[in-house]
Amino acid sequence: MKGKETKYIKIDPADPSKGAISEAGTILRNGGLVAFPTETVYGLGANVTNSEAVAAIFKAKGRPADNPLIVHISDVSQVYDLSDDVTVPAQRVMEAFWPGPLTVVLSKKPGIPDGVTAGLSTVAVRMPDHPVALELIKAAGVPLAAPSANTSGKPSPTTAQHVLQDLTGKIDMVVDGGACRVGLESTVLDLTSEPPVILRPGGVTRDDIEGILGRVEMENSAGDKGSLGTPRSPGMKYTHYSPRADVVVVTGEDYTVIFEKVAELIADYRAKNQKAGVLASTETARGYCSDEVFTVGSRARLETVAQNLFYGLRYLDEEDVDVIIAEGYPESGIGIAIMNRLKKAAGNKVIYI
Ligand code: AMP
Ligand code: MG
Repeated sequence: MKGKETKYIKIDPADPSKGAISEAGTILRNGGLVAFPTETVYGLGANVTNSEAVAAIFKAKGRPADNPLIVHISDVSQVYDLSDDVTVPAQRVMEAFWPGPLTVVLSKKPGIPDGVTAGLSTVAVRMPDHPVALELIKAAGVPLAAPSANTSGKPSPTTAQHVLQDLTGKIDMVVDGGACRVGLESTVLDLTSEPPVILRPGGVTRDDIEGILGRVEMENSAGDKGSLGTPRSPGMKYTHYSPRADVVVVTGEDYTVIFEKVAELIADYRAKNQKAGVLASTETARGYCSDEVFTVGSRARLETVAQNLFYGLRYLDEEDVDVIIAEGYPESGIGIAIMNRLKKAAGNKVIYI
């Protein structure tokens, strides 16, 4: 399908003010859509004050209208343009984790287009820890509403090539600043309730936040309803991170047992003439008899597993496997965010052994 021309530019993160960043900023200020790197995943940015530009994000991604966007800022002072209730706990986590992979949900100021917040009375805000993202927001001169730069439902993009696969012809520009460091989306923390609630686990862990604020609660996994019967994080009710292939997660206490079960599944699928791809850790990858094994990283360094997770899901999908079997990881620290994304990619197909 031929759509609009999507420009591609490269910006060196070591020297982001050089090159076409000001052109990218002008496109954004004038209502265009530009995808850009952050430390979590690539974002698809639009001028937050322009409701038509915000509406265009939903169209390009095929995103449901009731799933609100995160507003990206380059300077802490901009948070006061978005909320007039920046509480002391909010200030403390902003000071501790910004710039970084933490999004805060605050009560919103009037004037922010309804499309940004999907009509909610709250707004989600984050300052990304990436020199290209920060420079781009400055060049645009306005905060940027920016969800992940993928087609809705697919794994989030961690390289500019992933963005091009999904959105070529649908957006104005892709700014390539290399692969993303964290690899999973930001932690979303709702500070409008007491105690605060983690709506989505991410790069900043529950332990990190409790170190600053004391006890915080954790919203249960995918699609769970709050006490009022509506999901507190609207995005959580949708299918996410789903490659074309079926995904099965095999998890448990002991990774040698996980290994045996995955090996058995590979043989079962082969007997049915189906091709299985495996998303494996370095500890187990070499033992599998499968044509397609993608190694995400060592169990001793879950940050690396997080970094390579979406890349691996997209890679195996390109290899046209019938099923992706993913090994599970211990659910603590960043492992909570890893398992949250894997379980969503798998729907209900999680085997605990
Ligand atoms: P994405 O940027 O595609 O990773 O999605 C943004 C996530 O932030 C979604 O899961 C949203 O539900 C969540 N979010 C954005 N704004 C709010 C808000 N005001 N209240 C609760 N969750 C929000
Ligand atoms: Mg997303």
